[in-house]
Amino acid sequence: MHDVISAAPILIGSEIYRHSSFGPRHPLAVPRVSVAIDLVRTMGWLNEACYRAAPVAEREAVLRYHAADYVDALFAAERDQAVSAGVQARYRLGVGDNPVYPEMYRRSMTGAGGLMLAARLTGQHWSRTGETRIVHCLGGGTHHGRPDRAAGFCYLNDIVLALMVWREFGLRRIAYVDIDAHHGDGVQDAFAEDPDVLTLSIHEAMRWPLRRVEAGGDLRGSGLAGDRAGGAARNFPVPAGLNDTEMRLLVDAAVLPLVRVHRPDAIFLQCGADALEEDPLSRLALSNNAHIEVASKLRDLAAERGIPLIVSGGGGYNPYSVGRCWACVWAALNAIESAGPATQAAEAVLRRLHYPRAAGRNPPLHWLTTLRDAPREGPVRDAVRYCADQAMKRP
Ligand SMILES: [Zn+2]
Repeated sequence: MHDVISAAPILIGSEIYRHSSFGPRHPLAVPRVSVAIDLVRTMGWLNEACYRAAPVAEREAVLRYHAADYVDALFAAERDQAVSAGVQARYRLGVGDNPVYPEMYRRSMTGAGGLMLAARLTGQHWSRTGETRIVHCLGGGTHHGRPDRAAGFCYLNDIVLALMVWREFGLRRIAYVDIDAHHGDGVQDAFAEDPDVLTLSIHEAMRWPLRRVEAGGDLRGSGLAGDRAGGAARNFPVPAGLNDTEMRLLVDAAVLPLVRVHRPDAIFLQCGADALEEDPLSRLALSNNAHIEVASKLRDLAAERGIPLIVSGGGGYNPYSVGRCWACVWAALNAIESAGPATQAAEAVLRRLHYPRAAGRNPPLHWLTTLRDAPREGPVRDAVRYCADQAMKRP
């Protein structure tokens, strides 16, 4: 038993995110990582000795998972700022969700470099001491990425790469918890045949990615309640309007018991912020208290077992709510109380944001003056209980 966290958590970020944009009309036109970093600094929550800039991953390092021809196509797309119809069709680069933009290779490789660094730091610490180390990597979390193509704003799958690095340290049994509003399909599929990697995804039902199960049939969300991907996956497709009380039920009645039974050597939390009520791409209704609570519970579980914990970013398309959420999660990992008013300097960070949507023209006062949301508790609906029950059922 290890009842103390022996080394201070580390925060990994990068300045590449500050001015990089997927294009003016893309949901990732908004700043996110830079907002969170600026907030933790202006709130006084960051000891600079605990900050690391994410390195840009080496090409060879991402070939652990990604196809060389795809990585080369991604590099060429950034260099040329254009792709052929053949590249569009084969690699899904420069189409729909995955535009050509100026930093598309470097930014993706920075996400991968940051999360692989997180895996090395936690893995090395665990090898030396057999104890917990926590790393919060703000830039990573591209859970839809595929080995040989882009998907859903994700050009690489930095999470799969990090889990593969953990494996190299002998951390075989991994629990992956994904609270992004979208199904963590890329990670689930990468480890579908591997009983040592338990993937748990809580996501909005009938939200992207949608799949047609049979030709001409209806579109269905991926990550249905019974989808176990060969055994080691559990999925929680929740209804619109998911509230904090419902999230707590899923975590306490299913996620934590499943993680415990799995007896993991390491825990990964994909902490996407698009399940927050103010997010434009989902219809879930969490407050950031839900994210704080999940991160805190997994931190306690990791500390109790003496195992590594990585927390990544993910989705999140409202810069006010993403920045405030991830800053509060960092505070929670450090056992810092985040309730209370923002400092003047933190408020100035929030007041400087530009959010090109209706809500951004006249942001509500609490987006500017607090980091912690008011809780959004509510009734627990049957559809939510059903998700927990299905996940706990024996196969
Ligand atoms: Zn998402």
